[in-house]
Amino acid sequence: MSSCCSTDSCSMDEKTGQENQALCPQCGQKGLKVKGVTLQSMLSLDQVSGDSFAGYRFCKTENCDIAYFGPEKRSFTKEQVKVPIFQKDPSDEVEVCYCFALSRGEVKKSVARGEGMKLYHEIKRRKDTEGCDCEVMNPQGNCCFGNVKQLILLQEQKLTIKG
Ligand SMILES: [Zn+2]
Repeated sequence: MSSCCSTDSCSMDEKTGQENQALCPQCGQKGLKVKGVTLQSMLSLDQVSGDSFAGYRFCKTENCDIAYFGPEKRSFTKEQVKVPIFQKDPSDEVEVCYCFALSRGEVKKSVARGEGMKLYHEIKRRKDTEGCDCEVMNPQGNCCFGNVKQLILLQEQKLTIKG
């Protein structure tokens, strides 16, 4: 595995790119650029044979069914993607870190035990030492570590609010 990210600043936010066609045809939100290899990996083979996947974007809007949209108004829904998409699936079973198979439920449990930061450092260490494969493992096509961090912080906030 090669490491697709090496710093904490690696997150799901897009920092560059401003071409047209960047908005999801369904929800109107800006999509994240994804590489062809991500779509090839995430869609089942009968959907991708002979297709080129240049210029596609990932829609991370929670209540939008579109997973990927691309040139000529082509798009793929979340049902066509092989794995549940973290941003679009509120269940505890869905993975937040696809490379190390870490589910939302496991993050919640760790935080409830007061081990949120321990988990954070463990994933960070594994990412740094073992490398990650988010390009082909994670539907969003880039590093999931930003999502892991965000989820841990969110769960810790919820605990604090509950008192
Ligand atoms: Zn959308």
